[in-house]
Amino acid sequence: MASVLNVSHFQNETAAYAKLESLVWPNGPVCPHCGGTDRMKLMGGKATRPGLYKCYDCRKQSRVTVGTVFEASHVPLHVWLQAAYLMCSSKKGVSSNQLHRTLGVTLKTAWFMSHRLRAAMDAGTLPPLGGEGVIVEIDETSIGKKEGVPVRRGYAHKHAVMSLVKRSAKGATVRSFHVSGTAAADLLPIIKANVTSGTHVMTDEAGQYAHLNKHFAAHDFTTHSSGEYVRDGYIHTNTVEGYYSVFKRGMTGIYQHCNERHLRRYVAELDFRYNNRIKLGVDDLSRTHNALRSIVGKRLTYRDSSSGAA
Ligand SMILES: [Zn+2]
Repeated sequence: MASVLNVSHFQNETAAYAKLESLVWPNGPVCPHCGGTDRMKLMGGKATRPGLYKCYDCRKQSRVTVGTVFEASHVPLHVWLQAAYLMCSSKKGVSSNQLHRTLGVTLKTAWFMSHRLRAAMDAGTLPPLGGEGVIVEIDETSIGKKEGVPVRRGYAHKHAVMSLVKRSAKGATVRSFHVSGTAAADLLPIIKANVTSGTHVMTDEAGQYAHLNKHFAAHDFTTHSSGEYVRDGYIHTNTVEGYYSVFKRGMTGIYQHCNERHLRRYVAELDFRYNNRIKLGVDDLSRTHNALRSIVGKRLTYRDSSSGAA
């Protein structure tokens, strides 16, 4: 069996551009300046760098990376594709340090690349999920440590993440949020914006979820404090709790120094991984392609992605 990394788009720029174009422009090239599709011509000649198009509608030049997380990067595109494959094919993700060593780019560049790829994995704002007969489990967890907040008992010094898990016979999918707190006032607006009112929601007995029945078709909960985890076989939050056990392993090693501003992107990466898992029929290559299709409109400047301390 040949190495996946031997394919030409991981090795040379012309093939890398052709590969990315096939993913981002499935119906042919689109001019990012005027939206034109009919008169985009690939520039030839030895002096021309790969992937350069001229639009004869607006006379401007562009390439498929314009307006994407790869725009204005000095890293060759085939190295970006290698990074995307490494991040998407590894079950637990890849650290910046590992990318630095494997790809031969500087640590700073590796850090920037991994954050841009995480931004690509971020599904952004989506229409609400759920519906009649659909079950959505809701729970929250705490990770890391907030900067400048003393460590005490309880969770005040930790970051809170809330997740909505939609059950499905094919396999559950998740949508997570970094939340400012875990009171009903913090969570309810997000839940209502992301779950349709006809949905059957399930939680534990936590007080912040006490009035969900006013907003949704049905609300069931189990009482963990009395040892009840499953009722009638289907009333439980085991799916979202299972996700959190994967989630926490994924955050191990990075969460200690995970800046609040970057937490959203780590959460997006973990959600992406779960929503593109093997069980849902997504293999390493199609997972990488799904991430690469999502690079559009997520340009990130160095300022946005830098740690602030650097
Ligand atoms: Zn144009």
